[in-house]
Amino acid sequence: MDIRGSNIVVQYEGKEALKGVSIEVNKGEIVTIIGPNGSGKSTLVKAICRSIKIDEGEIILEDKNIHSIPTKIIARKLAVLPQVKSVSNDMLVEALVSYGRFPHLGFGKRLSKEDKDIVEWAMEKTGTIGLRDRNVITLSGGERQRAWIAMALAQKTDILVLDEPTTYLDISYQMEVLELVKELNKTLGISIVMVLHDLNQAIRYSDRIYVLKDGLVFDHGDPCEILSKETLKDVFNIQADIYEDLQNKCPYIIPNKIN
Ligand code: ADP
Ligand code: MG
Repeated sequence: MDIRGSNIVVQYEGKEALKGVSIEVNKGEIVTIIGPNGSGKSTLVKAICRSIKIDEGEIILEDKNIHSIPTKIIARKLAVLPQVKSVSNDMLVEALVSYGRFPHLGFGKRLSKEDKDIVEWAMEKTGTIGLRDRNVITLSGGERQRAWIAMALAQKTDILVLDEPTTYLDISYQMEVLELVKELNKTLGISIVMVLHDLNQAIRYSDRIYVLKDGLVFDHGDPCEILSKETLKDVFNIQADIYEDLQNKCPYIIPNKIN
């Protein structure tokens, strides 16, 4: 198992954003977290990446408590695409992707031949080679997202965590990013934890889904079974019909009415 979080509680200024959440991510799995705005998805993702501290519970990353693992070692095991990016976009694509190698650099802090090869590989995998000399700010939404994924990939981790990787992208770029994520999972065996808003995409691209509501796990399980009409009503406040997507062999939700 890659990640095991138990009874995670996170408070912001005394208010609980996570009220005792448990989550497991097995090796090679795609796990998607869904839930309404403010239900705690980003907080859970940040807790898993140790970018915020938890008030109760524990998070085990490959058999070790994440609080006992040095930051640099975590960055070699787990790469993150945050929802809000704190690093400036004003740099060349190749430089951005090279940042992914930083946790691996020794005292000299210079990229070795091997590091450069990995940067090359990450750009190739994400189709960003042709963009290497472009400034990140000049890229389209989909290109930019791929450049960020390339950076995360250059970290060469077994786990990739993506918080709403499809936000602001048009439908073809959304598919492009999700197909890339799926390919990385299938061909390289990278475990994926992601937050998605689109319920149908979550069903189609995940091995398992966690549904969050008000800082708690409402339910979790098989994407084909988890989103019943009752759950859609209780969690998302919608009335929906559920059809079968014959091509992708999974349910397809059509929201009809706000509850
Ligand atoms: P989601 O990603 O599901 O939309 P978040 O995890 O971002 O939800 O937020 C969960 C709750 O915690 C929300 O009520 C949000 O307002 C609150 N919250 C998130 N970040 C902070 C913060 N830095 N300070 C105070 N409250 C926060
Ligand atoms: Mg969020």
